[in-house]
This record gives sequence, C-alpha cells and structure tokens, in this order.
Amino acid sequence: MATLGNAQNTIAVLNKHGFPVRKQFGQNFLVDEHVLNKIIRESGVTKDDFVLEIGPGIGTMTQYLCEAAKEVVAVEIDRMLIPVLEDTLGAYDNVTVINADILKTDIRAIAEEKNGGHPIKVVANLPYYITTPVIMQLLEGGAPIESITVMVQKEVAERMQTGPGSKDYGALSLAVQYYAKAEIVANVPPNCFMPRPKVGSAVIHLEKYEVPPVAVADEKKMFRLIRAAFNQRRKTLPNAVTGDAAFTCTKEQVADALRAMGLSEMVRGEALSLSQFAKLSELLP
Ligand code: SAM
Repeated sequence: MATLGNAQNTIAVLNKHGFPVRKQFGQNFLVDEHVLNKIIRESGVTKDDFVLEIGPGIGTMTQYLCEAAKEVVAVEIDRMLIPVLEDTLGAYDNVTVINADILKTDIRAIAEEKNGGHPIKVVANLPYYITTPVIMQLLEGGAPIESITVMVQKEVAERMQTGPGSKDYGALSLAVQYYAKAEIVANVPPNCFMPRPKVGSAVIHLEKYEVPPVAVADEKKMFRLIRAAFNQRRKTLPNAVTGDAAFTCTKEQVADALRAMGLSEMVRGEALSLSQFAKLSELLP
C-alpha cells in the first residue's frame, strides 16, 4: 500500500535518510493523498499501461503509479535520492529507477526496450525549471507517447490551453495544441507540497492526437515560423519573419502571403491561430 502522500511520512523519510531538499532540482514533494489519487485517475492509467515518471523524488507518486500500472520507469536526476527510492519502493517489483537527466534520456529507447515500442503514458509532478523543454521533448521527440499528465506551474498550464488574443498565447500553446488535446484537470495550491512552492500549480492532461488537427506540408517550417513570430512578438509578422535568420523571404513576400489569407500586413503572430500559421508557412517561399 502507498504510504507516502502525507506530511508526516514524508518528513519521516527525509529524516531517516538525512536528505536535504534541493531547490536547484525543483524539489517540491506532494503531501496530499487526494491530489495524488486525482492525478492517477485523470491519467487514465490501468494495469495494462507502461508509465514513465519524470522526477520521482522520494517515490511518493511512484508508489501510487506502481499500484495502478503494469510497469513504471522513473527517471530521477538527483543521485542522493536513489537510496531513498530503493527504500520507499522496495515493496514493488514493477518499477525501475534510472538515475539520469530526463532531457538527456532516450525515451524512445525506453519504450522500445520495456514496452515493445508500444505507446506509453507519462505522469509526473514536473520540476518547474524545465517544464517547457520537457514538454517539447515529449511532444516533438518522436517517442511513442499516448498521453501526458503533469503537474506544472498554473500559469504554464494556462499558456498551454490558451488561444490567439491572450498575452499568454505563444509557441508553447501552439506546439501543445498541434500535438495534443489539452485539459486542465485540477488546480493545486502550494500547501499540497513540501516545501511549499511560491506559485500555484495545476495538473494538465494532454491526450496525443493520432493525426494533428491541422494539416501542414512541412511541420518544421511551420514551427520555425511560429518561433520567429514569438521571438519578437511585438513586431508585425513581416518584420518578425524577415528579422529571423531561418527565413530568407522579403517583407513584401510575407505581406503578400498575409493579404492572400485576408489578413493585414500589420498583424502580429499573437493574432494567428494554428491553422493560419500552417497556411502562412505554406504560402511563404
Ligand atoms: N514526484 C515527486 C513528488 O511528486 O513528490 C517529486 C516531484 S519534484 C517537483 C521534481 C523531481 O524531479 C525532483 O525529485 C527532482 O530531483 C527531479 N528532477 C529535477 N530535474 C530533473 C531532470 N532534469 N531529470 C530528472 N529528474 C529531475
């Protein structure tokens, strides 16, 4: 039975191992059973599933995942947590802990080796300092992933869901919405963690699309365009695009393409939807 997920047992484990919580690794351990159960429920993990957990910490959510899933692989960067995890996960025979940086981990190879290349589910209380690169790696890395259920900073969860016109709309929103259906499934206050983070948190569930909602001939070109548009988000699109080394077209060519789409040449990237970015990338030379 999962024993962690409350403040008392978390403190007992930290004291037993003399473990100093390390801020530089974004360590905020979950100490709320309701939140843990909610994450497991919303992840849709069953005994048929192989789960990748990023940053198991002292093994709190890992215990819940071991009970819900067929098999769990947990990737933890902090080597000082490895003996702690051997202790807290000792009762489970369906978990493997890998001491590595997730950003340098070949997730496709893990899915291949452990799950015969079949799609896996990712569940994590992410270290907030690397949320965006981790999400981009999971979406764009080409590993077979069915869904991603992660705790992130509340503002970042909102950014993933939002559309044109919002100040939070940007490259992350567009990447998430191209690859997955995003839904915030819980808001989690600081007092559910130890130590308490300074910011509010939210759990977001991303269900990967089998086919993206927008058809585009050259995905990479579309994302280069999106990056160019938001790297200089205050500039009009013709200025932002021609100011970016990835594009060799002229301002007139960008303006012509925008006009052909019925848009003003003064428009900024933050006003364009995903399908408009797809169309514009196809019209640009
Ligand atoms: N899962 C635990 C929980 O919910 O209580 C801990 C979550 S804590 C927010 C984030 C965890 O990710 C920490 O254990 C931290 O050491 C680990 N971590 C930080 N950077 C990492 C990286 N680059 N790769 C793998 N794990 C990392």
